[in-house]
Amino acid sequence: MKYCKKCLQPNTRPYIKFDKEGICFPCNYLNSLNSNIWKDRKNKIKEIANWCKKNKSPSGYDCIISASGGKDSTRLALLCRDTLRLNPLLVSTVSPPEMTTQIGYENINNLNKLGFDIITVEPDPVIYKKLMKYSFIEYGNYARSTELTLYASAPRVAIAYGIKMIFLGENNSLAYGEKEGSKDQGNAIDMINYNTLGSGDISWMTIPDYKIKKKDLIPYMYPSKKDLIKNGINIRYLGYYFKDFNNYSNARVAIKNGLRIRKENPNSLGALTNYDALDDDFVAVNQMVKYFKFGFGKATEEASEMIRLGILTRKEAKKIVFKNDGECSSKYIDDFCKYLGITKKRFFLIANRYRSKNLWIKNGKNWRRTFDLMKS
Ligand SMILES: [Zn+2]
Repeated sequence: MKYCKKCLQPNTRPYIKFDKEGICFPCNYLNSLNSNIWKDRKNKIKEIANWCKKNKSPSGYDCIISASGGKDSTRLALLCRDTLRLNPLLVSTVSPPEMTTQIGYENINNLNKLGFDIITVEPDPVIYKKLMKYSFIEYGNYARSTELTLYASAPRVAIAYGIKMIFLGENNSLAYGEKEGSKDQGNAIDMINYNTLGSGDISWMTIPDYKIKKKDLIPYMYPSKKDLIKNGINIRYLGYYFKDFNNYSNARVAIKNGLRIRKENPNSLGALTNYDALDDDFVAVNQMVKYFKFGFGKATEEASEMIRLGILTRKEAKKIVFKNDGECSSKYIDDFCKYLGITKKRFFLIANRYRSKNLWIKNGKNWRRTFDLMKS
């Protein structure tokens, strides 16, 4: 396992590219940005905002933002309204009550109180849970299904309301080095084909053993590109146009505007900060399984961004990443098992199946890492 020489990006991240000097794509990308590029992007987003106003929907909204109530969607909503002078409709996809955290509720309420209109999409919780269980067992990633409904809600509402623009946050292929998409890197119309969403394919979700039929999957159906174009819908990464759109600036602005953050130690979530994934504790479970699969989790991602932004040195980051990455409080694992109706023993039988054979060796009952971040 190799790490970027500048940050802590590992070469086990799917699709990540390194240059000859061993520097990862996100580090090189950030380094390539200069004041001319930011001037061009500022002009471009003004043009886009004017286009939104000219193409206002019959319902009166200029654009849609998919909103969880967290730091990024709070920042996006404020940028749209206060900087671009647009009238956004927020679309919030709600997880079942057993899964949503108290601060998750409070943060959506906060957005509402900040003066935004919100449409809430609530998929059938019985189907939602069955899909999560199947996704966890078959792919070691419970969010494979839930991510689809999160992403599908905004374009589905856009079509229903005749709204022509959807704004997303960051372009993940630039920020994290995920699979590359469109040549115009602010354009997200092809987004569904270039990330973990598997082109929006839902055929794997029709599961006879779980009694899930195609008719149960409407909230998970991401409209085809043909349908989006036919309805005149554009999708853009708003974060691409703003120099200070990153996790830290977004958190700072959102907290100033009433965002509630976690009180627990970030170590219990395998993270470094307490302002990410505020509405869902199970994310920590997923990050732990990701650590089994690829040898890195949330802490590595957060530290790499902090190094790029000059908040931490690589040396400082290594120490805290080593301590926190892959950690997950047993409380979250217990809650996850209870929610899915599986025993903790079965949970670990499944999760351990996803440990990479290149990264882990079984030593009696314990698993030993073959990789060592501290030596990188
Ligand atoms: Zn890097």
